[in-house]
Amino acid sequence: MDIAIRFLGAAQNVTGSRHLVDAAGARFLVDCGLYQERALRARNWDPFPVPPKTLDAVLLTHAHLDHCGLLPKLCREGFRGKVYCTPTTAEVARIVLLDSAGLQEEDARYKQKRHAREGRRGPYPEAPLYTTAEARACLGHFTPVRYGQPVCIADGVTAVFRNVGHILGAAWIAVTAEAAGEVRTIVFSGDVGRWDVPILKDPALPDRADYVLVESTYGDRAHPSQREGRDLLAEVVSATARAGGNVVIPSFAIGRTQDLLYHLSGLADEGRIPRAATYVDSPMAISVTEVLERHPEIYDQEMRDRVRRDRSPFDMPGLHFARSTAESKAINSVRSGAVLLAGSGMCTGGRIKHHLAQHLPRPESTILFVGYQAAGTLGREIVEGANPVRIHGCRCPVRARIAQIGGFSAHADRDELLRWLSGLGAPPRRTFVVHGEPETARAFADLVAKRLAHRVTVPQYGERIALD
Ligand SMILES: [Zn+2]
Repeated sequence: MDIAIRFLGAAQNVTGSRHLVDAAGARFLVDCGLYQERALRARNWDPFPVPPKTLDAVLLTHAHLDHCGLLPKLCREGFRGKVYCTPTTAEVARIVLLDSAGLQEEDARYKQKRHAREGRRGPYPEAPLYTTAEARACLGHFTPVRYGQPVCIADGVTAVFRNVGHILGAAWIAVTAEAAGEVRTIVFSGDVGRWDVPILKDPALPDRADYVLVESTYGDRAHPSQREGRDLLAEVVSATARAGGNVVIPSFAIGRTQDLLYHLSGLADEGRIPRAATYVDSPMAISVTEVLERHPEIYDQEMRDRVRRDRSPFDMPGLHFARSTAESKAINSVRSGAVLLAGSGMCTGGRIKHHLAQHLPRPESTILFVGYQAAGTLGREIVEGANPVRIHGCRCPVRARIAQIGGFSAHADRDELLRWLSGLGAPPRRTFVVHGEPETARAFADLVAKRLAHRVTVPQYGERIALD
């Protein structure tokens, strides 16, 4: 059978996931993500490499922006098919895409003003990549499919979504193509989650595949354990309460915020931390928490047990959700004993900046980082000890305690990726390592070849590979 895969993103980098597949006379896309690395963002503006109207469908692994963020543009450029994803992914993607469109519009307005003032033009058009109206129109293409339910996406091509952990609704996808009596199965990992983490079930394992595309974000390292992270969280919350300050946590809205609430409520139940006032200061994190509460079917056993015992982490005593600006501002009057969770996770924007401006100068407060801090972000500067830092155009002295937890990642590490691949009964005809920095992807490819005897390729951006 003639199959061709064209690697249009997350090929030797970690954002912009897009894989174009031609198989059994059908053409479909797996993920349609936004590029977020500064050096690659120009690709977001390129026209789609084939006419979008020639695509039969898009299969969406999960709702992170680097996997779904270019869908509104694809629809505007003529895509007419369906976007298949799990029901939870459809709900979270709605929140993510509308938020992204709002940011694009705001950014365009800001650039127009600044460029007019400075009498120059920037490298990209001074227009939003897509508008809120375009994001809304794209949501009309979403077609929810439950885990395990086969769906026919074109003549002779069937897809099945399976739980992959990572974030709520996330899936790996097995696509089976059938033509002239031949059958091939291609497995797309999406982003692989972890075992024994809060709230979500462990990833399901693929049992067979002719071809596999596997992510490699952390393919060259092992994560510290969850237990270490939990211990440090307990110590930081207790010590900061004793010192008379607040704990400020820059937190990603999808997954990380809910995981932290789970840990904080568990630690308080065990008496390891005082029952502190906890504030979720992020409209997006609040909306995602509501989606999670509507979908108890995706909870693991421990979370089900907790909810049954009437101790949902999202109802814990002292928890406050600040959706409005007024509610957010009111948090400023809370000077001690509280835990504040706000976005963005890398401090590049959002309400966290206000809390940093309040608490960075206070030696009795702690800024606790729980996620990856990319180079060039305010979060990275603080972690690396910059002092002072610039926030909203002002010099802000850093006197607070700075702490970092490494064990709460939503991504599988090297050993967990191998564990996921080891579900395959026999090595596939070929394995493609994607979604990793070049050195990481190559290191993981070598490991998979050595340990699991796979024939492995690390594709390049734009490369088209014909398979049989
Ligand atoms: Zn992801």
